[in-house]
Amino acid sequence: MFVSMKQLFLFLAGLLGSVPAWSQDFDRDFEDATLRLDYVLCGDAHHQAIYFQQAYRTSRWAGRRSNLSEPLLAGNGQVRVLDPETGAALYANSFSTLFQEWQSYEEASRVQRAFENCFQVPFPRRPVDIELYLTDVHGEVTARLRHRIDPSDILVRKVHDNGLSRAVLWQGGGLDRSVDIAILAEGYAEADKAQFYADARRAVRALLGHEPFRSRQDRFNFTAVFAPSQDSGVSVPHEDAWRNTVASSHFDTFYSERYLTTSSMRKVYDALGTIPFEHIIVLANTAIYGGGGIYNSVTIMNSGHPTFDAVLVHEFGHAFGGLGDEYFYDDMYSSMYPSDTEPWEPNLTTLKDFDVKWKDMLPVGTAVPTPVDDLEKQDVRRVWNTFTPAQKAQLNLKVGVYEGGGYQSRGVYRPVQECRMKINECEEFCPVCSRAITRMIGYYTE
Ligand SMILES: [Zn+2]
Repeated sequence: MFVSMKQLFLFLAGLLGSVPAWSQDFDRDFEDATLRLDYVLCGDAHHQAIYFQQAYRTSRWAGRRSNLSEPLLAGNGQVRVLDPETGAALYANSFSTLFQEWQSYEEASRVQRAFENCFQVPFPRRPVDIELYLTDVHGEVTARLRHRIDPSDILVRKVHDNGLSRAVLWQGGGLDRSVDIAILAEGYAEADKAQFYADARRAVRALLGHEPFRSRQDRFNFTAVFAPSQDSGVSVPHEDAWRNTVASSHFDTFYSERYLTTSSMRKVYDALGTIPFEHIIVLANTAIYGGGGIYNSVTIMNSGHPTFDAVLVHEFGHAFGGLGDEYFYDDMYSSMYPSDTEPWEPNLTTLKDFDVKWKDMLPVGTAVPTPVDDLEKQDVRRVWNTFTPAQKAQLNLKVGVYEGGGYQSRGVYRPVQECRMKINECEEFCPVCSRAITRMIGYYTE
């Protein structure tokens, strides 16, 4: 019997499911390759500007092939690939930056500084416009740059394998249907190589052992990249200890002792070279407590502190899930979440537009704001381990609208009394954070 190619295709498509629309849209506009774009973000608390530095063709494309033009969360800025004629978005991603965080510090009121940031978008088949913009705490655009990228431009730098040692630590699925995470060694000398891979495996176990990641392990891939640092350990300025390391990370960011960051994002991306990735964990070889997670930018973690597992999961909650901190101080950073604006973080609200948050998860009859239980009226971190499972569940699972969150004791509300995004002692994400992460995993992989 004669069977045409088309009939054969339709027969196979029937067996396998039809060719998905997402694949066609992606293939029409993009190659299976990554366009890395480097920028300098600069200014102070009052004025910000964006300058383009360099474009690269790096790896295969590890990012989304569906939901291309709409970020799930607004973030503090977006990078967008636009059709030059129509202005239609072909791809968009949202992010936060260390630069914007710095703007809330006093230093930003008196000095102008520059920060480097790198972004990845799928490699366009035709000339496109790239638009990058930053927003303030009210969601208003504060800086915008739009520029043309021609994929045939000879100055788009072609990156070749840098030869660094690497290991796939966990392969849940293919590049196109998984969240791809690169773990980069920071402050590990050549002699620390085995230690790095052991620490990286511990990081994978910590994340994949924690819900809601645990039940979605097949949606994640982890690759560890060993880039040897000249020195062992990372820089600790308050001890006058400066070390030569791959990512030039250091504590005392913005003069806050425990705040470990890197502002050398180009070095991080250079080290990752041709590794396809969507998220970066920089694993810092130090026992000093510290780390940070910046939404769709980077998670940086010390590897040697006993709280490693808990803090890594918390910081990854920021970097991957876009979750806000649910802890608060008395009126510190009170300008970060103004009352006239609903924050974009899914687990915080100012009640400006609570309908878009977890209103649908509130038990019938819940008072807004919700009064805290007597259990919560004590130093919970100190006594957490004395609580029974039922008491912990009461604080972690009883969804309400509790005042205090996002560093502010007033005007910002959190979904439960205790959550992994509030204290390290609390073992689990709250239902609202879990839903936000689950949605994000689906957004990347479905
Ligand atoms: Zn939470």
